[in-house]
Amino acid sequence: MKRITHWINGEFSTTKAARSGDIYNPATGEVIGNVDFADSALVDQAVGVATEAFKSWRHSSLTKRTQVLFAFRELLNENKEKLAAIITEEHGKVLSDALGEVTRGLEVVEFSCGIPHLLKGGFSEEVSTGVDVYSIRQALGPVAIISPFNFPAMVPMWFFPVAIACGNTVIVKPSEKDPSAAIFMAELWKKAGLPDGVFNVVHGDKESVDALLTHPGIKSVSFVGSTPIARYVYESGTKAGKRVQALGGAKNHMVVLPDADLELAADAAINAGFGSAGERCMAISVLVVVEPIADALIEKIRTRMDKIKTGDGTKGSDMGPLVTRVHRDKVASYIEAGVKEGATLVEDGRTVKIDGNGFWLGPTLFDNVKPSMSIYKEEIFGPVLSIIRVKSYDEALDLVNKHEYGNGTAIFTNDGGAARRFQNEVEVGMVGINVPIPVPMAYFSFGGWKNSLFGDSHAHGTEGVHFFTRGKVVTSRWLDPSHGGINLGFPQNT
Ligand code: NAD
Repeated sequence: MKRITHWINGEFSTTKAARSGDIYNPATGEVIGNVDFADSALVDQAVGVATEAFKSWRHSSLTKRTQVLFAFRELLNENKEKLAAIITEEHGKVLSDALGEVTRGLEVVEFSCGIPHLLKGGFSEEVSTGVDVYSIRQALGPVAIISPFNFPAMVPMWFFPVAIACGNTVIVKPSEKDPSAAIFMAELWKKAGLPDGVFNVVHGDKESVDALLTHPGIKSVSFVGSTPIARYVYESGTKAGKRVQALGGAKNHMVVLPDADLELAADAAINAGFGSAGERCMAISVLVVVEPIADALIEKIRTRMDKIKTGDGTKGSDMGPLVTRVHRDKVASYIEAGVKEGATLVEDGRTVKIDGNGFWLGPTLFDNVKPSMSIYKEEIFGPVLSIIRVKSYDEALDLVNKHEYGNGTAIFTNDGGAARRFQNEVEVGMVGINVPIPVPMAYFSFGGWKNSLFGDSHAHGTEGVHFFTRGKVVTSRWLDPSHGGINLGFPQNT
């Protein structure tokens, strides 16, 4: 049994926790460890340490910061298999998925290595006689990052490399369901030469989140999780005067037009619908199929579904378990609701048989889903794919735009003009054209629209750098040396 505790000032906390939580291996259903939960006193201690560390980290040279970031990048790369194994053990996703997650996080570290260029300000000479104006961006101070269970390494890495590169100090509050990845990365930062106190991890649940949201020492909050909590975090954090970006839930539609390559579309539906057991905020949850191709597409998807091997993520399976028993049962209850509401259950994941007490649910497919059904309206966050049949592009677009979520979407077509219209007309933050999971590269910014994001800044890319810095503009007038400055015999400058 492992015991996970907080990481403060470059070492494990020795404070005894009043509360803690169990950590499970979802593939066996067994408790494999215990994680300490922070109270407001512990959060206060972490903020105090981060505030102290900020005094010197904000003055560290860009060269020094870049050297630490490069060293962290090397260590992360060398240890990516170890980190992936930690993720699989606590989250359940298959090892290749976990490795993919680390790689996407690494890309943000690599992006942040370019911080000297990213922090360059602007300069206008002689805006008035003898007057220059220039802009600089400065770090905020201690910042909080609160992350969900589904990407325990990548989601914190959407934020902390950028925050640290900009000169801030960081407190990460990972999901209590899979807390070990954040601690592993904290140890790598120490080895990379990051000064103690710049990167801290506090574990916990609502109590620790509330303490971060109201602590006057915390200058910004980057949150990722479900929509109700994202809304709560945004409202509470901004009320306390903090800068907040709160990324919420999703219900991503993949529109398939009649001229699409159906083999490509079927492969995409499988990967994006069932990869990571559907526990991805960019997972495809709804296929909007423009007739007359639905029957042909469903046949191709079914054939592929039959080949998906559900099982332990360390043993060569394609799809792992769900994260907890409670979540597994919640997803299964949506399957029941879909049947009751009249959708056609084409493949039923509840029939999957795997030895042991893991949190298993196989891939599930519904046809003839209607917009009024709960399986369409709500985020399921599991391996359940719904098909809605429509008659036209306009009907498909209308569905996507009317949905409360607007994280990601995709269109499958061979018509460039149709794709171009879609990218222009669709009210969603991230759009794929013949690409089912259009996660932006690190140098662009990640984020959705509508109830998928509260706040103005998306994650990483230029928006990330702006989120973690404050702009300052300096207007300066330096008189010519002939006006009483150091007299080196300058001729009078008119
Ligand atoms: P969650 O909202 O339950 O938890 C997220 C974080 O909030 C965790 O750190 C948790 O400890 C904390 N938390 C939970 N309840 C809280 C409360 N009442 N008050 C304060 N803090 C609380 O989300 P989850 O189940 O860990 O993650 C899955 C959700 O995250 C899905 O809805 C998914 O769509 C979303 N997600 C969104 C994105 C995105 O980019 N938009 C990315 C990944 C995950």
